[in-house]
Amino acid sequence: MHYIKKEFEEAIKEIANQEELKQLKAKFLGKKGRLTELFKQMANLENEQKKEFGKNINKLKSYIEETIIAKQKEISEFIKKKSLEEEAIDITLPSRRKEFGAVHPITKTIMEIEDIFRSMGFDVEFGYEIEYDLYNFEMLNIPKEHPARDMQDTFYINDNVLLRTHTSPTQIRVMKEKKPPVMFISPGKVYRRDSDITHSPMFHQIEGLLIDKDIHFSDLKGVLSEFLRMFFGDVPVRFRPSYFPFTEPSAEVDIGCIICKGEGCRVCSHTGFLEVLGCGMVHPNVLRNVNYPEEYNGFAFGLGIERFAMLKYGIDNIKLFFENDTRFLKQFSF
Ligand SMILES: [Zn+2]
Repeated sequence: MHYIKKEFEEAIKEIANQEELKQLKAKFLGKKGRLTELFKQMANLENEQKKEFGKNINKLKSYIEETIIAKQKEISEFIKKKSLEEEAIDITLPSRRKEFGAVHPITKTIMEIEDIFRSMGFDVEFGYEIEYDLYNFEMLNIPKEHPARDMQDTFYINDNVLLRTHTSPTQIRVMKEKKPPVMFISPGKVYRRDSDITHSPMFHQIEGLLIDKDIHFSDLKGVLSEFLRMFFGDVPVRFRPSYFPFTEPSAEVDIGCIICKGEGCRVCSHTGFLEVLGCGMVHPNVLRNVNYPEEYNGFAFGLGIERFAMLKYGIDNIKLFFENDTRFLKQFSF
């Protein structure tokens, strides 16, 4: 009987799971198990011996049963502990970084320019990207066959409809709707057949228009100089005579090069100045086209938002704005 106890004790040491324990239990306590064999041997014994033998078998049986129950408990506790360890949350691990979006530099530049003009009392108006030839050219004093049309390589949809080449048709739309005085800027997308490192076939402009009585070129100079200083900081501003069909007189505006501070560099073609916008007094033909009374006049201006953003943020390739590379865009998340 001792050898069975010993055999059992050796065997139970090796048990690692409930399934093995079940097999062990069957091996010792089952119908064809080791203890059943012992009971069978009992039949061959004398009566006196039988009593003692039976008592010992029962003792062994209880011992085996209790040991198996204890082992069962041990195994299930081990499993529980293991799964708790595996599912445990390590509160010392660093958390996952939250990704914050950024305002696109073009949108950011539009917002900054809008803020400046709103602070001066300008409204913000929006036009249409698909526009009539009439509003994009004719009513802005650019009739068909006018040489200025060559300056703007246009995407036509049909003979009368096109993708606007500038934000200036918004001037016509607003003046047709509203009686003077008017004072607004209008940001938006424009389209031209042009593509290189400083030109994109789609780009953004801001148009500005101020119409009232007794407006002079000095008003234009004052507003635009103040705007440029508010946007770029304290830079020299100069006005150069130029030509646009919808303004007379017309001017282009330069600021002192913000890269070389006027010393001369590649960006400013060693002139010390950068051209940033076009402007002028609204041509009388344009005001006549929208039936504004004679006593009203004013000024208009237009600027390229990409150019402003490139200069302010030191970006040298216009394509970066439209490639949606998050590494580039992330730099503007402040
Ligand atoms: Zn320069």
